[in-house]
Amino acid sequence: MQYPGNLFVVAAPSGAGKSSLVKALMELDARVQPSVSHTTRPPRGQELHGREYYFVSQESFDQMIAQDAFLEWAQVHGNRYGTSKTAIEQRIKQGADVVLEIDYQGALQVKRIFPNAVLIFILPPSWEELRSRLERRAEDTADVIDLRLRNAALEMAHARDFDFVIINELFERALFDLKAIVHAQRLKYAAQRSARSDTFEALNIP
Ligand code: 5GP
Repeated sequence: MQYPGNLFVVAAPSGAGKSSLVKALMELDARVQPSVSHTTRPPRGQELHGREYYFVSQESFDQMIAQDAFLEWAQVHGNRYGTSKTAIEQRIKQGADVVLEIDYQGALQVKRIFPNAVLIFILPPSWEELRSRLERRAEDTADVIDLRLRNAALEMAHARDFDFVIINELFERALFDLKAIVHAQRLKYAAQRSARSDTFEALNIP
């Protein structure tokens, strides 16, 4: 199925800088819209219900699974996270570009449902840098940081299943790479044919 909008799926181990990159992309490009996931984990720091996540109980999450309300969901670091179907398909049908910040398991589920989804994996430049970014973030206990580092090895092994890989060594360079991927999608024949139909028609191109 080809929709006028794009579905970008960004995955990375925690601490690779995924959220900051996606946030910067959305600030620069109003056509890229976020999707707010549901999670059973408690809020951290300044996180707000409905902004970073919908923070829900185990029971509500179970209910959403039973109602087939999720496009995908997965267990990550001992908590469950899911993307609700509401609005995703509708928004890309209307021509919006939606970006999902989810883990690799969810990304692969999305690719099976939307084969045109663009899967982007963000890598840290090294283990040392990943650990120091998690420590600097100071949002998690030492145990949680160790768990996140152990999971990172497993997660990064799945980078090979993604369409694009960005190494986030220098933030500005990584943002440039992310913008380039988004821009390239908009230059594909089908996207140009739909966005610039007047030009195509004036040039007698089917
Ligand atoms: P955090 O707890 O640090 O916010 O997120 C932990 C991990 O869960 C991150 O890799 C994040 O991308 C992933 N995640 C967040 N929302 C979703 C979602 O809706 N589905 C899936 N599969 N993973 C998610």
